[in-house]
Amino acid sequence: MKPLWIPPPIVEQLFDHAYSEAPQEACGILGIDPDSGQVIRWIATANRAADPTRFYAIDPTALAQYLPELSDQGLQIGFYHSHPNGDPIPSVTDVSEATYPESPYLILGIKQDTRRLAAWELRYGAVTPIPLHISDLPPAPYIDESLSSRQTVAILLTGALVFSALIAIALSLLPPAPPIPT
Ligand SMILES: [Zn+2]
Repeated sequence: MKPLWIPPPIVEQLFDHAYSEAPQEACGILGIDPDSGQVIRWIATANRAADPTRFYAIDPTALAQYLPELSDQGLQIGFYHSHPNGDPIPSVTDVSEATYPESPYLILGIKQDTRRLAAWELRYGAVTPIPLHISDLPPAPYIDESLSSRQTVAILLTGALVFSALIAIALSLLPPAPPIPT
C-alpha cells in the first residue's frame, strides 16, 4: 500500500493539538497530495461526540466546508484523531463509524510519556495498516505490487474455473431428459 508521508513539523503540530485537547480526543481533517502521498494540510476541528473523552465526531460544519475545498485543490481527504490515553489502533467504534473507505485514518496514541502514530484504511469493516513515512524527504518511488499482471491473470483464471465448475454442477443437477416419443 502507498505510504502516507507526513513531514516531521506536521507530526509535531498534530501532537500539539492532541495534547491541547487531552483528556478529550482531538480530531481533524487532512489534505493529502495524491501523487506523493504527502500530508500538506491539516485542519483542527471541534469534536462533537457526546462523550469526547472516549469518542470523536468531526464537526459536520467543518466537513461541509473543508471537504469540497480540499477536493477543489486536488487533494485527497484524510482524517486524524487522538487516543489521549491509548494505542494508535482503531477502536470498534472507529471502524464501525468510518464512512470514507478511500481515506486514510491517522490515529495519535498518547500513553504516559510515549506517543505513537499509525494510519489505517477502514474499509467497510476491514482494517488495514497504511505504512507511514515520517520525513522531510519523499519516500522511495512507490511501485504498486498489490495486483501485478500475473496475479490478475491468476485471479481471472480462478474465476473462469469456478464459473465452469458451477456450470458443471448446474448441469449435473438437471433432471434426465424425457424420452423422445416415437
Ligand atoms: Zn479512536
